[in-house]
Amino acid sequence: MSLPSKRKISLVTPCYNEQNGIQAFFRRINEVFLPIADKYELEVVAVNDGSRDQTYNELVKAKTDNSYLVIVDLSRNFGKEAAISAGLDFATGDAVIPIDSDLQHPPEVILELIEKWESGAEVVLAKRVDRKTDRPIQKLTANYFYKLHNRISDIDIPADVGDFRLMDRKVIEALKSLPENCRFMKGLFAWVGFRTATVEYKVAPREHGTTSFNTWKLWNFALEGITSFSSAPLRVWTYLGCLVSALSFAFAVYLIVKTMFFGIGTPGYASIMVTVLFASGVQLIGIGVLGEYVGRIFAESKKRPVYIVRDVIK
Ligand code: UDP
Ligand code: MG
Repeated sequence: MSLPSKRKISLVTPCYNEQNGIQAFFRRINEVFLPIADKYELEVVAVNDGSRDQTYNELVKAKTDNSYLVIVDLSRNFGKEAAISAGLDFATGDAVIPIDSDLQHPPEVILELIEKWESGAEVVLAKRVDRKTDRPIQKLTANYFYKLHNRISDIDIPADVGDFRLMDRKVIEALKSLPENCRFMKGLFAWVGFRTATVEYKVAPREHGTTSFNTWKLWNFALEGITSFSSAPLRVWTYLGCLVSALSFAFAVYLIVKTMFFGIGTPGYASIMVTVLFASGVQLIGIGVLGEYVGRIFAESKKRPVYIVRDVIK
């Protein structure tokens, strides 16, 4: 009788300027997987996202001891979302787990993810229970972002859940079938649905290197999230336009009545200025919102690939 074949777990880890953390990452992964090696086959797809340091060489070095490693080398820096997309495309496991390579996602949590998967969940979310490692501004804005996003879009992104999660092969195939170029992964993950379970974990501080996400990048990321999954910012202008028009109409009536009864007073410099400035401000914001969407339509319509691979080492 042949043994039942081992189920394969793929870790997908995007790496951008992580030269000092790579070996530590694999040490920790091995610590976690050695005890369960008889039950599961491991694969790690490391995506080198155009690092400018020695990350690629460190990955090649790690490959000599860890044959389960697959290195996907992108031709330049495409950003974390694209790097994860690339990793998901190359992963062959029965379950796939995106995990940061800076060890902020504790590999030990993977065991809990697998457990929930074995008991029937198709998606197992790792939810962070504290945001101690975040900057205060990040903590505050993240919270508001999720509230706003979930209120105005068709899908609910669970708060405090990032890319760190387990997904069954079925979920990965569904994700791969989505054609869009703007890859706001959290949104796409939520959009595909499936039976979902959650485990909790504490985010570890970064051990090496520095974060690549400054406040401006995070703001753009949030914009991408909103505009990829909601058209509310486009539609709101209809209502705002009606409101402004109604107010203007009321103001006009007031001016006419006032002129009829009290004659022409001092020339209405102030009221004209206020009206003109307000109206043009509203128009500029409206155009800006249109621009956000038109920009995204532009990006999609070019149908460029999400990433370009220079090399794959299997
Ligand atoms: N990352 C990437 N491409 C980028 C930026 C980041 O692949 O352009 C990777 C990075 O190597 C890390 C993960 O994405 O594994 C999270 O990045 P980081 O730690 O800088 O973000 P933070 O944890 O501060 O949100
Ligand atoms: Mg990090």
